Amino acid sequence: MRLDIVSIFPDYFAPLELSLLGKARRAGIMDVHVHDLRQWTHDRHNTVDDTPYGGGPGMVMKPEPWGEALDTIAPAPAAPRLIVPTPSGRPFTQATAARLAAEPWLLFACGRYEGIDSRVMAEARTRMPVEEVSLGDFVLAGGEVAVLVMIEAISRLLPGVLGNTESVSDDSFAPGAMESLLEGPVYTKPPVWRDRAVPDILLSGNHGAIARWRRDEALRRTARHRPELLARLDPDALDKRDRAV
Ligand code: SAM
Repeated sequence: MRLDIVSIFPDYFAPLELSLLGKARRAGIMDVHVHDLRQWTHDRHNTVDDTPYGGGPGMVMKPEPWGEALDTIAPAPAAPRLIVPTPSGRPFTQATAARLAAEPWLLFACGRYEGIDSRVMAEARTRMPVEEVSLGDFVLAGGEVAVLVMIEAISRLLPGVLGNTESVSDDSFAPGAMESLLEGPVYTKPPVWRDRAVPDILLSGNHGAIARWRRDEALRRTARHRPELLARLDPDALDKRDRAV
């Protein structure tokens, strides 16, 4: 998968060298290119922002550097999917990550200030798919951290990135049995720590009973932390024991 990232703070992306992401890059699974938006400015101050039309506080990112950046990185007929993080976008979910993990080429545009002049996205839509995506109902100072979050969620779904592919299917929100469910509590050795014992069932070796316990715990935790998710569970996929939990 090829990833291009445009930002006025390219240094934000140093963590892409670390851990799983770094390994995925070195293994050639992800080909990452980070670009400084200011290279597409032509004035002495490398200006990327200006005052908003209509008045109001803050500044807006100017369309010209963004237009040149997109022309250079994705000259027609090449067409990446352009991902624009913004609190006013559609929610980014595990399903979004899975869908984007199947794309060959993603281009991320990191906004700052009050965001990017809307004409940039409108013009880009005439030559590439564009998605405006929100990480949640809060406002960050810029798109860089949002893009790091998205890349981490997407990259761990790419074949060869995680050692044990099982761990993806057991995760909260994973398609299949965990869809719309939060994962329950997890434990490791020692069996007793500060007088707290691991639940007996996990030491029983009874895989059927352990799977059932995990599902019960996932249902309980989802009911406690995210009750609205339970309404999304497929009623036909619920058995009698699920309903009892
Ligand atoms: N004026 C914008 C609004 O109210 O929708 C907020 C702009 S925010 C201060 C600056 C940049 O941070 C945005 O352009 C976007 O790139 C990023 N950002 C902030 N919150 C975000 C969120 N919840 N999801 C994704 N990106 C976000």
